[in-house]
Amino acid sequence: MLVKKLFLLPVGECFLDQSAVNRNLAPGKLVGMPVWSFLLETTDGPILIDTGMPDAFINNPDYYKGTKREGRVVPNMSEDDSIVNVLKRAGYRPEDIQMVISSHFHLDHSGGNGHFRNSPILIQQAEFDAAIGNDDYSPLECRLPDLQYQIIEGDHEVIPGVQIFFTPGHSPGHQSVLVTTEKSGPVLLTIDVAYIRENFENGVPFLTFDPEMAAKSIRRMQNVIQEFRPSAVFFGHDRDQASNWPTFPDFL
Ligand SMILES: [Zn+2]
Repeated sequence: MLVKKLFLLPVGECFLDQSAVNRNLAPGKLVGMPVWSFLLETTDGPILIDTGMPDAFINNPDYYKGTKREGRVVPNMSEDDSIVNVLKRAGYRPEDIQMVISSHFHLDHSGGNGHFRNSPILIQQAEFDAAIGNDDYSPLECRLPDLQYQIIEGDHEVIPGVQIFFTPGHSPGHQSVLVTTEKSGPVLLTIDVAYIRENFENGVPFLTFDPEMAAKSIRRMQNVIQEFRPSAVFFGHDRDQASNWPTFPDFL
């Protein structure tokens, strides 16, 4: 029983200071980073991994104006990038989604979680503890206290073909997903274990909560690659890689 289809859904763009992507670069220049959600069609129904940015970002590049993130985080999100509209184009309503896997509660990954009030939302305990009630963590839409959270700790097989790995470091409770599909075999979604390939392959440091833990999670993912030989490995916000990704309606 494998995942039938894995769709890569582009859900907007977020400009970050270049020093967030590469700690060796001086701050002061913004770089645009593609933001992603992933839709799995399974025998148990559709599963969504990550929900993009909050609707409060729509046509609102000045969202962070007047805050400490002004000039360092600039969202570029249109109405079309809202996860509800993205799913609609794929033929689904939020209530169709059987489960949401939240990689972590950062602003570019869990902003649409509030649209999924009837779905269990899988999150690591450590991420839940760090984010819920923490106003400094991300906008409230990304860390709503009253959703149907299903808290997990460590690695977790969701269904055969959907394996979660606990990969903390970028955030306190980050998780990655190995998806095995009928068409492509194992596909590794590292999510933000690495923003870009250079973080993963060359040890270029990037924005992390705990650099040591983050390096350990990169090694963990490299071991997973050795063990499972995935046909594709995706990084969280790699522009070059994104230009080659088979996006919806293509699938893996
Ligand atoms: Zn991210």
